[in-house]
Amino acid sequence: MTLYRDSGVVLRTHKLGEADRIITLLTRERGVVRAVAKGVRKTSSRFGGRLEPFMHVDLQLAEGRSLDIITQVETLNPFARDLGSDYPAYTAGTAMLETAERLVSEDGEPAVQQVQLLVGALKALVGRRSTPSLILDSYQLRALAVAGFAPSFDACARCGAVPDSGGSHRSFHAPSGGILCPDCRVSGSAAPSPMTVALLAALLVGDWDAVEAADDRSRREASGVVGAYLSWHLERGLRSLSHVDR
Ligand SMILES: [Zn+2]
Repeated sequence: MTLYRDSGVVLRTHKLGEADRIITLLTRERGVVRAVAKGVRKTSSRFGGRLEPFMHVDLQLAEGRSLDIITQVETLNPFARDLGSDYPAYTAGTAMLETAERLVSEDGEPAVQQVQLLVGALKALVGRRSTPSLILDSYQLRALAVAGFAPSFDACARCGAVPDSGGSHRSFHAPSGGILCPDCRVSGSAAPSPMTVALLAALLVGDWDAVEAADDRSRREASGVVGAYLSWHLERGLRSLSHVDR
């Protein structure tokens, strides 16, 4: 029986048999991993509540024939405990876990940056460092960037033209990878306000002073742009997966 250690965040759990659960985790060393926690649903379980969604844990696992088996768990950050009582933070956190599971592959590759990003965002949620929806928007943009889909909010995503000083391009087109200059503009582009474009750029780099200064209208519009950009990439990801399965 080969044992190994890893650490990460519990994304999801589901029941297996009478007393076990399959735990889906985002881990540093192996990306998204599904592993079995035996006896975890018994009240006497030695795992306690450490394998609930949001928990940031250090693990020991044993390699199994199909799924690996969790043999030890230590809590690094008990995020589940602090998120349960705060509905806006809980729903934003749930969206983060779903985003992480969809963006990170299960091919066994390390996901150190994605784990750091998710843990940082959950810490920000638990610490009430900003509005939950803004923390979520920033997390999703940065998770997309780490996954290789960094959107451009300054230079044109097609030709690289930089806007005149103090200004910004006005057309956002997810399939093109971000903001487009007037020459490259395509039909079907969104037209966020300059303040929204500035907010999106601040969310991407984590400039929280600029984020906090944004008004409600820009925040709503920015959330819509982030959602559209994320959906486009996730749908494209799913399409490519179903293509491989066939
Ligand atoms: Zn252009």
